[in-house]
Amino acid sequence: MNSEIIAIGSELLTPYRVDTNSLFLTDQLNQFGSEVVWKTVVGDDRIRLTETIALAWKRSDLIFTIGGLGPTEDDLTRECAAAALGKQLRQDDSLVEEIEARFRARNMEMPRINLRQAMVIEDAVVMKNRNGTAPGLWIEDRGKVLVLLPGPPRELRPMFEEFCLQRLRQLLPPAIILSRVLRLTGLTESAAEELAAPIYTRYQNPVTTILASPGEVQLHLRSRGKDEAEAQDPLEKLSSQLEQALGGYIFSTSGESLEEVVGELLRTQKATLSVAESCTGGLLAQRITSVSGSSSYFLGGIVCYSNAVKLDWLDVPSDSLEQDGAVSAVVAQALAEGIRRKINSTLGVGITGVAGPTGGTSHKPVGLVYLALAGPEGTQVIEKHYLGERETIRWQASQAALDLIRRTLAGKVQNGLI
Ligand code: AMP
Ligand code: MG
Repeated sequence: MNSEIIAIGSELLTPYRVDTNSLFLTDQLNQFGSEVVWKTVVGDDRIRLTETIALAWKRSDLIFTIGGLGPTEDDLTRECAAAALGKQLRQDDSLVEEIEARFRARNMEMPRINLRQAMVIEDAVVMKNRNGTAPGLWIEDRGKVLVLLPGPPRELRPMFEEFCLQRLRQLLPPAIILSRVLRLTGLTESAAEELAAPIYTRYQNPVTTILASPGEVQLHLRSRGKDEAEAQDPLEKLSSQLEQALGGYIFSTSGESLEEVVGELLRTQKATLSVAESCTGGLLAQRITSVSGSSSYFLGGIVCYSNAVKLDWLDVPSDSLEQDGAVSAVVAQALAEGIRRKINSTLGVGITGVAGPTGGTSHKPVGLVYLALAGPEGTQVIEKHYLGERETIRWQASQAALDLIRRTLAGKVQNGLI
């Protein structure tokens, strides 16, 4: 049974509030094996809300609305849901008493407008609200279910847990959704798609989605089954086929970041690392040291922004700086070898490039980056051309440097699809 969520409230259509409740609901529903296939945010407008609920009622079996159950004029969910389903609303006297009692407990009289919260759709089951005045409603009709939940998270969550969980268990056949994220770097989204699509399109289950961000492509696999074993089996099968096809580009299959993966490789191989960073300005060192325990493999680094620091501290030959320029393969190599020698580490990284937006030339455009990795077996230098803003270029350079370390330590050779 697939689900649909409707988040109601004009404030959710402004830049100031986000619909967080639907993330909680989605997580809960997924645990029952129910996929959320539609999510709508709609303002407090009678016509649009009625239309939205009517459409959902037509196309979905299990619908949750969030919000709009308050006592004020703009809280329309009860009325619009009744209209959309063609059902009557009636006042529930026991609810009136309960709401009155809540006010009495605070030595107050119930305002007349709160009577709206005692209106119940015919055939609906009332879900009590321990943390507020707005009761929820659970409506079942010809195999379909519509659930009206209050908006404040501290009211919605306990109501869902105390009431909906048990009902969903009775309603839905046992099912589970397992997910896995394959994290890749060193190739573009389209290159990843070309390699992965012929494999994952053969599977209806798991469902695969591909997401890209600067320096990273993620394949999200979601597998559904009636129990853990049934969901696990196709997930393992697809995952291992993708791992085979995408090989060295995959740096993680269980959520670790690239800096964690590199850290683990350095730790287990008892190797140490130092960095000499120009255009990344310390970003690489920052990422490496964001991992707890990195002191066991990361020795230190220098942000060598000026030519003088490159020359005086890392022994970059002045000839290279003059003839080839600070952004060049030879300088990157000299930086990597210089820092490795000075700090006496197993590996040394050198990064130099044009982060932009100013400083580019036709010869050395913005986005040109040289990365070098010096180690016991010599020095590798790679040239990269990135597009984008300053921060994106710096991030991608740090990502490529980490990946160069990863591939070197893991013995994975790049196969030309960068
Ligand atoms: P309502 O039930 O529409 O009166 O909503 C009351 C309050 O709950 C709103 O002002 C929001 O702060 C919060 N709220 C409503 N909908 C959501 C949502 N989908 N996610 C997070 N908070 C919400
Ligand atoms: Mg509202």
